[in-house]
Amino acid sequence: MIPAPFEYHRPDSVDAAVRLMSSLGEGARVVAGGHSLVPMMKMRMTDISHLVDLQAIGALRGIAVDGASVRIGAMTTQHELIASEALAKAAPIIREASLQIADPQVRYMGTIGGNVANGDPGNDMPGLMQCLDATYDLAGPGGNRSVKARDFYEAAYYTARADDEILTAIRFAAKPCGYAYEKQKRKIGDYATAAAAVTIEKAGGRCTAASIAMTNLSDTPVFCEEAAAALVGSTLDQAAVGKAVAAMLGAINPTEDNRGPVEFKRHVAGVILRRAIERAASRA
Ligand SMILES: Cc1cc2nc3c(=O)[nH]c(=O)nc-3n(C[C@H](O)[C@H](O)[C@H](O)COP(=O)(O)OP(=O)(O)OC[C@H]3O[C@@H](n4cnc5c(N)ncnc54)[C@H](O)[C@@H]3O)c2cc1C
Repeated sequence: MIPAPFEYHRPDSVDAAVRLMSSLGEGARVVAGGHSLVPMMKMRMTDISHLVDLQAIGALRGIAVDGASVRIGAMTTQHELIASEALAKAAPIIREASLQIADPQVRYMGTIGGNVANGDPGNDMPGLMQCLDATYDLAGPGGNRSVKARDFYEAAYYTARADDEILTAIRFAAKPCGYAYEKQKRKIGDYATAAAAVTIEKAGGRCTAASIAMTNLSDTPVFCEEAAAALVGSTLDQAAVGKAVAAMLGAINPTEDNRGPVEFKRHVAGVILRRAIERAASRA
């Protein structure tokens, strides 16, 4: 299908992009890799009169690892996330999750900023960023501000970002920990039926800290604080894992669609969380 007519803009700085977004008003949208937005435009599911392309803004690209602090520019592609040895050392769960997104062609274009700003419950990065307790940096006409990934998602395609704000970077503190990104999908390249991001810290055979977030099991990613709390202090035995799975099942709210009925999704969610906890524990 062919999208409706639109005007194309290509600013070369964040300031210029913000100025354009606030002057063009409601019909303006930024485009990053275009791998979610352009299909929606072609299917005429969204009404866009001005497209503001972020590709020429060099300041939005790149990965910086400085000790424990990690900063990823919004226009960094999923391919670049996978290729970065510094990032794989600081937060290997990002490479593990990115390799499960779509296929290499999509990953060469799809950006981390587009993935987290999109608000699609099927995107893998939002849940992962909640698990890592990441912060999103936003630039808008009123200046810069930061929002925690755990506070960003309001409903499907609705986030705390105002229409004229641009997500510039994602930041988090990397900690040595066991990790796992477990995803069940119908076929290679598909969005998740259910996915789990888990990190676990251990000392003296006991879990000292844990973080869990689930993907595509509600209209937003689900940060499962209670499920993680069920693991802390335990030896990560079957009883503790069972409590964590039960707490997670109490926090999700899947709906029936072409990936299966509700009971199936709840079953899959339990299986993948159990697997993710076990793998993360074995790496802690
Ligand atoms: C066949 C296929 C399979 C896929 N499978 C998966 C999958 O399994 N898991 C997964 O997570 N993703 C999947 N994707 C999505 C893909 O990985 C991209 O991450 C996704 O398209 C978003 O990134 P993008 O750069 O393409 O964003 P775009 O499509 O350019 O933008 C998406 C939305 O975010 C907004 N946006 C983009 N960048 C910014 C910014 N810096 N500031 C503010 N708003 C911004 C846009 O206005 C738009 O509303 C798939 C895509 C395809 C085509």
